[in-house]
Amino acid sequence: MALIVQKYGGTSVANPERIRNVAKRVARYRAMGHQIVVVVSAMSGETNRLISLAKEIMPEPDPRELDVMVSTGEQVTIGMTALALMELGIKAKSYTGAQVKILTNDAFGKARILNIDDHNIKNDLNDGFVVVVAGFQGADGNGNITTLGRGGSDTTGVALAAALKADECQIYTDVDGVYTTDPRIVPEARRLDKITFEEMLELASQGSKVLQIRSVEFAGKYKVKLRVLSSFEDEGDGTLITFEENEGTNMEEPIISGIAFNRDEAKITVLGVPDKPGIAYQILGPIAEANIDVDMIIQNTGADGTTDFTFTVHKNEMNKALGILRDKVQGHINAREISGDDKIAKVAVVGVGMRSHVGIASQMFRTLAEEGINIQMISTSEIKIAVVIEEKYMELAVRVLHKAFELEGE
Ligand code: ADP
Ligand code: ASP
Ligand code: MG
Repeated sequence: MALIVQKYGGTSVANPERIRNVAKRVARYRAMGHQIVVVVSAMSGETNRLISLAKEIMPEPDPRELDVMVSTGEQVTIGMTALALMELGIKAKSYTGAQVKILTNDAFGKARILNIDDHNIKNDLNDGFVVVVAGFQGADGNGNITTLGRGGSDTTGVALAAALKADECQIYTDVDGVYTTDPRIVPEARRLDKITFEEMLELASQGSKVLQIRSVEFAGKYKVKLRVLSSFEDEGDGTLITFEENEGTNMEEPIISGIAFNRDEAKITVLGVPDKPGIAYQILGPIAEANIDVDMIIQNTGADGTTDFTFTVHKNEMNKALGILRDKVQGHINAREISGDDKIAKVAVVGVGMRSHVGIASQMFRTLAEEGINIQMISTSEIKIAVVIEEKYMELAVRVLHKAFELEGE
């Protein structure tokens, strides 16, 4: 008997028929004698619908109230899933994040899980129930409802698996595993039987939406056995995230495992500030204080003793960041210009094999140059090279890089 956490994404619970299919799969696992915790997302499109409703009332919605609204999507699907299980004669019980007591911090809209009280779930499992938990949500220390950021149900699934010391966490979605890149953009993309944790973490952090980055972080921290599978197929082992050391240094292994992309970032440029100690802190300190995450950062020094500073933030936070710079920072730094550009995209090639190979960056840059794609920013790590380009070239860049690094299936 194993304890398995199964997470089902929005398309997998998009209507009553699909929820019945989820219940059938759970029933099969129950019949094998396993204990099952199910984590569900909202029906596909529902979270977006709820966000739009909020924006109709308040264009930049109050974060606490927005979380009160968007968390309801998952509350509907847990009830439906529990009902579907009961219809199959299976004992089932649903919990919202707050009912479980998934304790988070109070960063509404991007809260982090601090603790999970597994008491009720364990009791229910021991009493023979399938426990159905709402993904994407928790509550802070004052009982306020919080949400974990888009794609956050993955994180609920893996965090629950970690807290319950589950034997496996299965992420069921609308593709049958992790591919060399999003198969919607490159139909020739190839499914990977396994991928190292490091590569998955990098792909997720560079924008591959198949797993939310925090779910991968949890899997790494607590060594959760994590697998991505299709909810539309009964066969197939999907993709296993592995923790073996030294993988990828083998000559047989591909140098590049995958390509990620991200349209969610915006670029902020601060031109002509004095080139002196403390300037980066003066610019980025207030941004950090406002809890705005910064991704790439570039500083260029000009010949005239001034410097230009460019960094990226989430598109949703561009205006907030610009407001902070103009209202609170400009008075101290006296920049020649402060501007924002949200028509950018980031494309990254990822692979642990890069550690033992040179020339990957030049191959990437040559491939983009041959298509006339201008690179605006570059950032590298041991196992990744990421570039910022104009948004309209993103899909082209992903396709040509996928081909250049020979990632297609046979
Ligand atoms: P869910 O609603 O099940 O959480 P998501 O839409 O969040 O599903 O994630 C699954 C989607 O991730 C796929 O439909 C696919 O378009 C996209 N995706 C992006 N990169 C990859 C990749 N490397 N491998 C597989 N899918 C990917
Ligand atoms: N429903 C949430 C979203 O659309 C969480 C999730 O699906 O993982 O982002
Ligand atoms: Mg998702």
